[in-house]
Amino acid sequence: MSERIAFDADNYARRVRRGPCFICALASGDAEYRLANVMIYEDQDVLVFLNRYPTLLGYTLVCPRRHVERVVGDFAEDEYFQLQRWVYRVGRAIEQVIETERLYVLSLGSQQGNRHVHWHLAPLPPGVAYEDQQLAAVSMNRGILRLEPHEARNLADQIRERLLDEPS
Ligand SMILES: [Zn+2]
Repeated sequence: MSERIAFDADNYARRVRRGPCFICALASGDAEYRLANVMIYEDQDVLVFLNRYPTLLGYTLVCPRRHVERVVGDFAEDEYFQLQRWVYRVGRAIEQVIETERLYVLSLGSQQGNRHVHWHLAPLPPGVAYEDQQLAAVSMNRGILRLEPHEARNLADQIRERLLDEPS
């Protein structure tokens, strides 16, 4: 399950810079994007799905459904904290499914590519060498994990089960 494959950075950059907003495409139910991404949870406010290009097993994205770009500036305080409640819940769920030494939570994106704001939840497993942790652990330059579709679906099912088990 943890075999690494090379990541085609040029192709990826072309797609995110020229293609539609991938989160809005997912939100609207675009068949191609739905096929390429494994959903964990969604409602009228939030989308949660496995990172299509995982560098760590269990790497999950949490996004507002509506297209907003500024990580704090486009949210009312209440709305921001509602979304962060999902970051918290999803993080807890991931930690119950994947052995996690440290859960990384970050928001990246680019005005030239991935504009729709989203949070990365990336569980670092135990036993990773210090120099391979932190930014090195999430960098796609070192390749991505190859997950078979059934493995990804199974992982998403497990995270969803824990997520919806959590008392809210
Ligand atoms: Zn969008």
